[in-house]
Amino acid sequence: MKRLATLAVAAVTVAIFGKAALAAAPADTLAEVKKKGVLVAGVKDSLPPFGYVDEKSREIVGYDIDFIHAIAKKLGVKVELKPVTSASRMPQLQEGNIDIIAATMTKNPERAKQIDFSHTYFFTGQKFITKKGTVKSVKDLEGKKIGTAKGSTSEQNVKKALPTATVLSFDDYPQAFLALQQGKVQAVTTDEAILAGILAKAPNKAQFEIPSVQISDEPYGLGMRKGDKHFVDFVNKTILEMEKSGEAKKIFEKWFGPSTPFHLKRTFKITAEK
Ligand code: GLU
Repeated sequence: MKRLATLAVAAVTVAIFGKAALAAAPADTLAEVKKKGVLVAGVKDSLPPFGYVDEKSREIVGYDIDFIHAIAKKLGVKVELKPVTSASRMPQLQEGNIDIIAATMTKNPERAKQIDFSHTYFFTGQKFITKKGTVKSVKDLEGKKIGTAKGSTSEQNVKKALPTATVLSFDDYPQAFLALQQGKVQAVTTDEAILAGILAKAPNKAQFEIPSVQISDEPYGLGMRKGDKHFVDFVNKTILEMEKSGEAKKIFEKWFGPSTPFHLKRTFKITAEK
């Protein structure tokens, strides 16, 4: 009887505290990745030059991908890339299907309530692609149909900046650009660096432009599970070292330098934040 009572108490204790302890147990992705020998990253696969399928090798390559390769190299593990969309990347991370997000993701306080971010490893701002000569200021976009991607800051920002516009949200930006080419929307909006990539690859690019109308700043962070401290520290240390050694700048120049079709200036450095 006494034994039964003890067992009952133990069961209740596990029920009350065990579950709470489990739920509160922070992920230790650093140890897990080392153990399994592979870093699984959620990446974009249709956004040059951040993450896209290379025509020759059929592999996903890009600026975001090179950061993942550098982190995996430091860990001594292989890389597995899983395509994500703007809307699916956070659930994929939280459900444990990927270890890290490297997918053109802006860090902001709202998202930081749900996941942790690395230091900023890329910096851009939100702009528009329009038909040439149609837009000089943000006012010219009032009441217009504008395409963007579901689950993005671009979607939120454009709704705030242009409350009279009709925002059409697609799974990703190439679909929004197709809608612009078909005349279904009058503009596509997201980060300038993404727009530059889309435009560079467009066969009829001479018809379009990116007017100098900016509605937000977009600092990118690598996304990790909330409270995953060892991993966040490791990733931050790695990207700070990459800045110091010049590797981060080299990656930038490889994808955005003067010999590329995108050609952006590096206006940021990776620094320790907070
Ligand atoms: N950087 C913005 C965001 O994180 C827009 C690009 C994207 O959708 O990935 O939402």
